[in-house]
Amino acid sequence: MARLLISADSHVFEPFDLWQTRLPAALRDRAPHLEARDGVMRLVMEGVAPRRMGGAPPGAGDDGGDGHATLPGGSDAAARLRDLEVDGVCAEVIYPTLGLFLFMIPDPALQLACARAYNDWCAEVFLDRADVFVPSAVVPVLDTDDAVGELERCLGLGFRSATLPTTAPDHARWNDAVHDPLWRAAARAGVPLSFHVGTGATPTSERGPGGAVINYVYVGIGAQQAVAYFVAGGVLARHPDLHVVMVESGAGWLGWLVERMDEAYTEHEHWVTPKLDAPPSDYVRRQVHVTLGADRAPINNREITGVEPLMWASDYPHPEGTWPESQSVVERIFKGVPDHEVDAIAGLNAKALYKL
Ligand code: MN
Repeated sequence: MARLLISADSHVFEPFDLWQTRLPAALRDRAPHLEARDGVMRLVMEGVAPRRMGGAPPGAGDDGGDGHATLPGGSDAAARLRDLEVDGVCAEVIYPTLGLFLFMIPDPALQLACARAYNDWCAEVFLDRADVFVPSAVVPVLDTDDAVGELERCLGLGFRSATLPTTAPDHARWNDAVHDPLWRAAARAGVPLSFHVGTGATPTSERGPGGAVINYVYVGIGAQQAVAYFVAGGVLARHPDLHVVMVESGAGWLGWLVERMDEAYTEHEHWVTPKLDAPPSDYVRRQVHVTLGADRAPINNREITGVEPLMWASDYPHPEGTWPESQSVVERIFKGVPDHEVDAIAGLNAKALYKL
């Protein structure tokens, strides 16, 4: 019998002209868009160096890179439902693709307008089937009042997940009390906040030898830093109903991180502020969630972390994801793990977190 699978990290493929058609008229000539230059597709955004997307120009056929593939389920709910059925996946949390880069736009008003356009499109396409699709709203954080406003607007549209940049804005790191109204709003609504790798105003970009691998390592480290800020900074202690989700960061580091934080918390206790009611590892088990793909390290470390924080993901419809083989991939990567733990990681943890 097929196992209950919920993908905690899937993606849309936005229509190429999403922002050119949906931004308020006065902002349209500043819209993020894709441009083919010298046969390479680049994402062009105001105030940001054009970003190579690895795909072919629109209409030029399939994309083998990390940019736009042509699986229609990326922007069509009916096609997506058929693909999920083929894959044996019964629900999924859905993140942007191009929209993940919106956090890089320096002008707060333009960034917010772009996020609103994305969120409106996403709601129209996916929220009719909120029993299957959990799209994550993009919430800019350059201004906390604006962030709370957009989060609450999206809750009104029916969103049950929101995405913030993994790298905190320059003016206030994640342990800064300036963000508290946002944590309160999310906790009150019971909406988990996601941090997808590679997001923020200044994601690291190494262009020298080894860049592709080095950058992949860097973005994973960003997720670890975010968890440390939320846990040790007392954010999760102050907001016991707040849940944070690290997305596409792998999870092999989680065992190391909880032991490292617990060690500092007890061995260096004279230096520790704020004092927490429990060791850092307890907050991770209760309020931190991390997605994993095919990595074995988090499976081997579950004695240290517990299985509670772990959520499997297919990364559909990105070409590096497990579609349409997710059922067999899950059986392979979790070989030797007791059934009830596989069930938790592959579906039940996400089912509980998103109240599916
Ligand atoms: Mn992802």
